Amino acid sequence: MILEIKKFPAPILRKKCEGVKEVTGEIKNLGWDMVETMEENEGIGLAAPQVGELKRVIIVQMEKGPEVFINPKILKKTRETEIMEEGCLSFPGLFLKIKRAKGVEIEALDGAGEKVKIKAEGLPARIFQHEIDHLDGILFIDRISFWQRLKLKL
Ligand SMILES: [Zn+2]
Repeated sequence: MILEIKKFPAPILRKKCEGVKEVTGEIKNLGWDMVETMEENEGIGLAAPQVGELKRVIIVQMEKGPEVFINPKILKKTRETEIMEEGCLSFPGLFLKIKRAKGVEIEALDGAGEKVKIKAEGLPARIFQHEIDHLDGILFIDRISFWQRLKLKL
């Protein structure tokens, strides 16, 4: 099922999500719906609050395709950073250069509820950081300078 994407400044985008206690059928369905929604909108990442659910569930476009991650946690970040242009499905048409860690180590549950540990670099690492931010109500416009934000009137 294709879900409606909440656009900025929808208040839900600023809320902190709760951890998923049990990977129920409902959570698995949410994961599938989010994958479908992301693909329909030609995105490469999506977080549950963007479809109106305050749950710690994200989709990341991995090399092999989109994958569901539940309760994702960043265990490690490389000290090395990288500046790349990013977009967000909640901000149609807005692209910003954002500095983020080049690599991350993630712990999460996969779409089936199995524990996984992932080392990501480059684009997937960036997507993980962007989507995990969403789970804490942090948006990519929070990662640019005050002056840049003022200029963009955000
Ligand atoms: Zn986003």
